[in-house]
Amino acid sequence: MSSKKDFDIIIVGGGMVGASLACGLAEEAENLSIAVIDAHAPNLDWEQDSYDMRVSAITRASQMLFKNIAVWEKIFEQRVSPYRDMFVWDAGGKGELHFDSADMGEADLGHIIENRVIVKALHQRMLELPQIELFYPAQLNSIEFNELNTRLILEDGTEFSTSLVVGADGTRSWIRQQADIAVKGWDFDQAALVTTVKTEKYHQDTAWQRFLNTGPLAFLPLSEGYSSIVWSTSPEEAQRLTDISEAEFAVELEQAFESKLGKIESVAGRAVFPLRLFETLNYVKPRLALVGDAAHTIHPLAGQGVNLGLADVASLITVIVEALNDKKDIGALKVLRRYERWRRADNRSMLVAMDGIKRIFGSELAIVKDLRNFGLNMTDYVTPFKNLIMQQAMGVNVASGKPGDSKV
Ligand SMILES: Cc1cc2nc3c(=O)[nH]c(=O)nc-3n(C[C@H](O)[C@H](O)[C@H](O)COP(=O)(O)OP(=O)(O)OC[C@H]3O[C@@H](n4cnc5c(N)ncnc54)[C@H](O)[C@@H]3O)c2cc1C
Repeated sequence: MSSKKDFDIIIVGGGMVGASLACGLAEEAENLSIAVIDAHAPNLDWEQDSYDMRVSAITRASQMLFKNIAVWEKIFEQRVSPYRDMFVWDAGGKGELHFDSADMGEADLGHIIENRVIVKALHQRMLELPQIELFYPAQLNSIEFNELNTRLILEDGTEFSTSLVVGADGTRSWIRQQADIAVKGWDFDQAALVTTVKTEKYHQDTAWQRFLNTGPLAFLPLSEGYSSIVWSTSPEEAQRLTDISEAEFAVELEQAFESKLGKIESVAGRAVFPLRLFETLNYVKPRLALVGDAAHTIHPLAGQGVNLGLADVASLITVIVEALNDKKDIGALKVLRRYERWRRADNRSMLVAMDGIKRIFGSELAIVKDLRNFGLNMTDYVTPFKNLIMQQAMGVNVASGKPGDSKV
């Protein structure tokens, strides 16, 4: 039997970004009714001695957002790994760059956290907030944008109407496609192989990244001396690295990493993710806003994807709360455009920077190699510039500064 439900806001996608938005809105505007619809129920149960192959480097700015929505403690009590240093070097020369949190007077630069840990903590928090209703797993069938509301219908016939729908449904966003919002992407023939390994030497709480001409290879520190690997390369090479035996893979990984952490003692599974780089031409239209990967997807080399999504969340909450205070329609284009203007500039500069870095480090031209090595060494040497990059990487003092300004 079909039923009809009305909500002030419906968020499609209860991943790290969509669920953070739901929690933040419920914290900041207690009279709002919020629905979260996701095609899948979250994974809440796993072997404690296993690691999720998908992890995120969470910046200080994102940590602050999690604190403000009462989620950080729930994440922290599960498992987090602080990284205190970052070490970046170029396979095609002698260029290297070292960031130490102590130079900034900070205990760490951020934390490496398993995605499933973040999603579980957010899920627990959403269950505590009475304004939020969860619809998991639920398949959407159709959406209709009207002047005064958006209507959504599930495959089982359940009908929803709302003043504002938010597409937080990831890089292949169904909502974005239904709204006919085009994306502008860069040609990007790369995939990321991810796995978890145990190394002979301790990782020294350092996020390591070596730039090979095929793409960057990152070792991200986890607890108990384990490291999470993100190896970006061509899709064919990623497939080959998945197909070879574990022992062969361990040898190739150690060589590609110049044995910085000694032998690779164990490898736990391997998975490949296609990499994309795009942003949408519009983040909003009447009664619709896109956030996170649905609006922009970047290369994981700087570990910024979800952090940008969480900055979208902080901005959109601020815009919605101000509209509510001013008794404005939260789904009106004029209100939503503020969010779009705010976030587009920050997201675009990160997208362009990531594309540039990827191309510069992918080049085999001798002059480009010389220049990038000179650039890395100079950056390492010039303290104010280095500090600026570190602040950017930590998500503090970001270009607009606005997300940090908001209460969330
Ligand atoms: C290999 C790799 C490493 C990365 N490392 C980092 C890192 O270190 N730091 C960092 O900041 N970022 C990193 N990223 C990027 C980060 O993973 C993404 O930016 C982040 O997952 C985006 O979150 P999201 O909530 O927007 O989308 P998603 O995580 O994709 O969540 C989307 C949600 O929507 C749901 N959904 C999808 N379709 C529908 C539908 N039709 N109906 C209903 N629900 C739907 C899904 O079930 C899911 O729950 C990495 C990415 C990759 C590929």
